[in-house]
Amino acid sequence: MNSFLPESIQKVIDEFSRLPGIGPKSAQRLAMYLLQSPEMRVDALANAVRDVKNGLSFCVVCFNISAARKCRICEDLGREQNQICVVEDILDVVALEKTRQYRGLYHVLHGVLSPVDGVGPEQLKIEDLKMRVQELLASGIAAGEIEVIVATNPSLEGETTAMYLTRLLKPFAVKVTRIARGLPAGGDLDYADEITLTRALQGRMDYV
Ligand SMILES: [Zn+2]
Repeated sequence: MNSFLPESIQKVIDEFSRLPGIGPKSAQRLAMYLLQSPEMRVDALANAVRDVKNGLSFCVVCFNISAARKCRICEDLGREQNQICVVEDILDVVALEKTRQYRGLYHVLHGVLSPVDGVGPEQLKIEDLKMRVQELLASGIAAGEIEVIVATNPSLEGETTAMYLTRLLKPFAVKVTRIARGLPAGGDLDYADEITLTRALQGRMDYV
């Protein structure tokens, strides 16, 4: 495809095509756009891309993205420390934070259980969640005062993961809730509007 194009342009098209949601046509359009943009703009983009991972890593507590050892949310002592909202990925944290309704902490699993794709509990930050709950209990907080809100997507994998987590946490007798089903089945938290997300959060129910 496009073998008549100079290699430098073809390379850009190939790289863009690898991005999620970008098909070959869009990749070509983006490459052409860059070609016609002032050099300054292209440099700015190239630098931003190059620096995206610089100095960033995952929070040691919740595995959210962070420039420091602990993320800003975990460092904020004004937040409810006994409430942990479990999400699939970092964009879900962004979506929930936008609602400004949630004042607890998070735990980013970095995926969902998916036997078909060979994703088991050990590939996710599940053991770390268990350890967090154990640490809270060890610090003297009563089990009844700890709430784990499972906010995985309402997909098959999301539900499977929610069920797994509930079973895993059962022996600790902490409160495990699931966000309400106001979200469209198979939908993505990340795409839900703020009102829907707020309702889902407020309407969460005990997971039994
Ligand atoms: Zn954190």
